[in-house]
Amino acid sequence: AADMTSDLEISRRAVMKPITDIARAAGIPEEALELYGRYKAKIDPALVPARSTRGKVVLVTAMSPTPAGEGKSTVTVGLGDALAKAGANTVIALREPSLGPVLGMKGGATGGGWSQVVPMEDINLHFTGDFHAITTANNALTALLDNHIYQGNELGIDPRRITFRRVMDMNDRSLRDIVIGLGGPVQGVPRQDGFDITVASEIMAVFCLARDLADLKERLARITVGYTYDRRPVTVRDLGVEGALTLLLKDAVKPNLVQTLAGTPALVHGGPFANIAHGCNSVIATELARTVGDIVVTEAGFGADLGAEKYMDITSRAADVAPDAVVLVATIRALKMHGGVPKDRLSEPDFAALEAGTANLRRHIRNIARFGLSPVVAVNTFTTDTQEEVDWLLQWCAGEGVAAAAADVWANGGGESGGDALAAKVLEALEEPADFHHLYPLDVPVEEKIRTVVRDIYGADDVEFSLPALRRLEEIKAGGWDSLPVCMAKTQYSFSDNADLLGAPTGFTVHVRDLILKTGAGFVVALTGAVMTMPGLPKAPAAMRMDVAADGTPSGLS
Ligand code: ADP
Repeated sequence: AADMTSDLEISRRAVMKPITDIARAAGIPEEALELYGRYKAKIDPALVPARSTRGKVVLVTAMSPTPAGEGKSTVTVGLGDALAKAGANTVIALREPSLGPVLGMKGGATGGGWSQVVPMEDINLHFTGDFHAITTANNALTALLDNHIYQGNELGIDPRRITFRRVMDMNDRSLRDIVIGLGGPVQGVPRQDGFDITVASEIMAVFCLARDLADLKERLARITVGYTYDRRPVTVRDLGVEGALTLLLKDAVKPNLVQTLAGTPALVHGGPFANIAHGCNSVIATELARTVGDIVVTEAGFGADLGAEKYMDITSRAADVAPDAVVLVATIRALKMHGGVPKDRLSEPDFAALEAGTANLRRHIRNIARFGLSPVVAVNTFTTDTQEEVDWLLQWCAGEGVAAAAADVWANGGGESGGDALAAKVLEALEEPADFHHLYPLDVPVEEKIRTVVRDIYGADDVEFSLPALRRLEEIKAGGWDSLPVCMAKTQYSFSDNADLLGAPTGFTVHVRDLILKTGAGFVVALTGAVMTMPGLPKAPAAMRMDVAADGTPSGLS
């Protein structure tokens, strides 16, 4: 059992196989590998031969989470290991962690306990430099844009109407709104600007939705950076820098191969947040996983109202990655929280709260059905759960007519026996004919698409647009962008745009305060409630617990 051991200690005690062995076993030819030391490699998809069949996609999502996360990455890894143990040729596809949550509150994103991808400290820190490349491409664009204005502004860009912001991969609230170009005539043109976190950058979204380098360049060229004095949009193509931006990303777009503690291959690549961006790893990685594996297990961030909805309506339109089965992670702790128990008492048995909390899970189950898929509920078990609580929940699922299994993959690992029951249910679900479809067609106005998500998925009465948002809707229509899908930016804690409304709230309105047109990514972001594109650090950041010994041994990563 892993209860007295940290994720970092478990991962550091692991005996890893050379990544060349993992690649060989997965059928990835050696010439496709670019080694980053012994345990990490980038893969050139162009050098991996296609097979006659493509792997099926299992999408792991969750009920509305507690602040600690419900263990989606842990279950993704544990399920992948369990499927491999059951004899299926399985490849995992995950996002790369952002340093914002690693140093802030939530921690890393490499799974936990005995279900982790390794080397965890590398993956959680700088890994193979993809986030550096994405941050650099983003900030090269802003530097070139400001230089264009400084050098005479041939395009007539209105410095007050620039929409593309600088980024860094850090939670830094003090950079949300800044003034640049101060200091006199040769220091640039003063204007108001701001930073987002790298995982909210449109470059990150473009990186994760592009199917290859040519598509990446075309999408980068289409990015809108702002507007001219006469209100015409200005794109990267107008600035003539899509070539340079693509060049900066040419190696980063190759997926990174690592392994789980049990030796299952995992592609960890790209990492947009799911509350403010579209929330899943690159489609290049998922498509490569389908090329080499018979089953691909991938994850969409936060709850199914955010990550899964976007996976179905955005990602599955950009590439051939639509899910064949969905796993919905639930925890006894989160159910109790949605049933009204405060965060510090989630370890105490409370059947009344558990039952009340199922309202949240039921709405997520119903939502997955709207995409033509019936989910398998994975009960991610914690050592504080009682057997009675877990049995009660499995019974409840049976009563709802939904497949379910307990997943003990944190304490026992999918390579041991912790994921056997879940793997069996998932294999059964993959035998069922799936009838996948999107929630909305593209040829209805953006306003209607937002209303559909808000009513059908969130359970709201309606959506209310602020005056600036209404003006943007008109610009979107006038600019011919009404056929883009929508990317909702919303709190992950509630179906509503108010983080305090837990469970399955009804009778509420969702407030869209602004819309951001992402013409490169190919979606319109709807900002609801108070959700931020640059997070802040908490009072006691995780960084306070981190250290490194004189011999380089890290501590405090989780
Ligand atoms: P998510 O992907 O939903 O955000 P993670 O898989 O990253 O969640 O897990 C969040 C944290 O919770 C990690 O530190 C992980 O070790 C821990 N965790 C996950 N599942 C369990 C479990 N069953 N028991 C104890 N800790 C767990």
